[in-house]
Amino acid sequence: MENKKELRTWLDNFNLNHPLVIAGPCSAETEEQVLTIAHQLKETDTNVFRAGIWKPRTRPGNFEGVGALGLKWLQKAKEETGLLMTTEVANANHVDLAMKHDIDILWIGARTTVSPFIVQEIAEALRGTDKPVLIKNPVNPDLSLWLGAVERMYTSDIKNLGVIHRGFSTYEKTRYRNNPEWQIAIDLQNRFPDLPLILDPSHIAGRRDIIFDLCQTALDLNYDGLMVETHHDPDNAWSDAAQQITPSTLDKYTEDLRIRTEESKSTVFKNKINTLRTQIDVIDHQLIDILGKRMTVANEIGKLKKEHNVAVLQTKRWNEILGKMILQGEEKNLSEEFILRVFKAIHQESINHQEEIINH
Ligand code: PEP
Ligand code: MN
Repeated sequence: MENKKELRTWLDNFNLNHPLVIAGPCSAETEEQVLTIAHQLKETDTNVFRAGIWKPRTRPGNFEGVGALGLKWLQKAKEETGLLMTTEVANANHVDLAMKHDIDILWIGARTTVSPFIVQEIAEALRGTDKPVLIKNPVNPDLSLWLGAVERMYTSDIKNLGVIHRGFSTYEKTRYRNNPEWQIAIDLQNRFPDLPLILDPSHIAGRRDIIFDLCQTALDLNYDGLMVETHHDPDNAWSDAAQQITPSTLDKYTEDLRIRTEESKSTVFKNKINTLRTQIDVIDHQLIDILGKRMTVANEIGKLKKEHNVAVLQTKRWNEILGKMILQGEEKNLSEEFILRVFKAIHQESINHQEEIINH
């Protein structure tokens, strides 16, 4: 993507000294609800008001949004509060209607990003406009689909882009509604450093109590903004009730969040951070060394198994190793999930090596 600087222009125009704050209900429910929340948010750090008009629900039979009627309520909320407006568009017709109602920023939902056909349709509908478009990550943990959606917009001449990290669905139940998988967002940020990156802690969390911590992590990772579902009466929201917070809670959160600058001018800080970074580099080298050593031993075992015609996979022994490592990990404050992931990866690599040895 050439000319990446262009990507930030729309956000730089806000001239903010804090991350962009997008807030508002999951869904527009009634005109009164939209106006009440918008007026309450006007008193906070919120820059942009969000509300879903067309709600893509995973299962039918839930509230599916008020439809185009809600666009009028957003226009009214903008007139009365001066907040910018954003809503989700999921096809060319939505784009058309949103443009006609002067919605300032459009977002593409997680269930849309998974479909290159629809992303392309939306890109065509927007071709040549300067409307900012925020692209949520796809539902499944697939960096290429996310990148692909950004590229489809960009190649349709839509340059005012941003991405929203809303977490990824998993089959197993975790503490999150959608697993954050921070690494995927960091990978995307590394590919397109000038693409504004916004966290949606609400859809990651699925519940109120971890929203603040998720926001803090995002700011520590230099995210450019937050999109937080906010409702004047969260418990009675028509969709996503468990994860919405009130405007006054949001206000308190934005006050308490620590915003870090990317680089500090202080030399003490610079010296310290350099030392610590060097230490990390040294340890990373050691890690690779030690993994190499472990693999050499695993290769020896592979040869031995070949000579004695023994199967590569020894499940019982593997489970014993894992159990010990989880206990040791606990002592070092490393989560069981982390130990499992690391050792599964190491084990898989050993199996690959041993199979190579046995089959040749
Ligand atoms: C939403 O923002 O309300 C929404 C439906 O989000 P997502 O596409 O991330 O599920
Ligand atoms: Mn929602």
